[in-house]
Amino acid sequence: MKSVPGTLPVICASAPNVLILACHGATGPEISQPALRHPAAPATRVSFCARGAHGGWRVVFSSCETLERKRREQRAEQRAVLVAPLQALLQNVFSVLFPSDCRLCRTPLNNISRIPVCAECLEAIQPARAPQCVICGDRLTGAQLLVGNGRCHGCRDFEPEFARAISFGEYESGLRGLIHLLKYESVLPVASVLGNMLAFVIEELLPACGDALPLVVPVPLHKSKRSDRGFNQAELITRAAVKRLPKRLELATGLLVRQRVTISQVGLTREQRIENMRDAFRVRDRHQVRGATVILADDVMTTGTTLSECARVLKQAGAERVFAATVARAFQGALQDIAIHVEREPVIHAEEEAIAVSV
Ligand SMILES: [Zn+2]
Ligand SMILES: [Zn+2]
Repeated sequence: MKSVPGTLPVICASAPNVLILACHGATGPEISQPALRHPAAPATRVSFCARGAHGGWRVVFSSCETLERKRREQRAEQRAVLVAPLQALLQNVFSVLFPSDCRLCRTPLNNISRIPVCAECLEAIQPARAPQCVICGDRLTGAQLLVGNGRCHGCRDFEPEFARAISFGEYESGLRGLIHLLKYESVLPVASVLGNMLAFVIEELLPACGDALPLVVPVPLHKSKRSDRGFNQAELITRAAVKRLPKRLELATGLLVRQRVTISQVGLTREQRIENMRDAFRVRDRHQVRGATVILADDVMTTGTTLSECARVLKQAGAERVFAATVARAFQGALQDIAIHVEREPVIHAEEEAIAVSV
């Protein structure tokens, strides 16, 4: 059995779970034979005594807990040292055995990830920074910034049914690619990344919701559409978002029902869009909605007609106020590009996109 004066702990060779410290004032600890156990200490904790300079036995202390913690830390450090190179090796082997490219920029991936997108592409997706309409979030042009109290032409002429809509970023390049991976290629883990973005938006809306916690309602798909796709992307993204929020919000997935299939809103006049959306939604449980503040959640907002119609139906059922949160926003100037894109896409994707931009 060894002991060292001062504060350095030494492991007792014969009993490695015992930590021995020298007694203060002692020229060298004289280790006593009786082992005292503090009444409150666990049975595994053992205390030793040593004779001090003034005579008498004093507790020098021992603790297997402290030692165990140190051991755990050491083991974790050792693991990190051993595992890091192994992980790097595995990732390289994986990329050789299962070569794949980033689905957005096509550069080879050399990391094991659930999402087939490189870190650079993910980092390039940033929140929209353009001046935006305070109601619908559309990009404001120079002239609109000067008049209209921060509202776009559309909101000045016909105020939407939602109080405010916010989106994380513009529906273009990387963000659009990510949404397509989820919706059209069923890369479901992408919902988690998009959920982070949606959580960011919902948090921004929370102060406007007041004291009452809002209901979070994903925009539903028609059952035929959901059955074809196998999932509702808005629901997956919203579910991921709610998990990341600091406040626990109620996710009401079945509250709103899409009871009719609609066509793309792109290229339609305002009257045609309203007609297209007529009776498309209904509220399943009016009691749940009565007096509630609702945050509608979706992947993409285009014209805003769908979200406005959902808000109208919810308010008609008794909702106090309705906000809208989406991952991406197709700014009105860019809708022409989307319409062209729809025509150039393969048939299956064109149909999907047409419906996607209509919701
Ligand atoms: Zn990439
Ligand atoms: Zn607007």
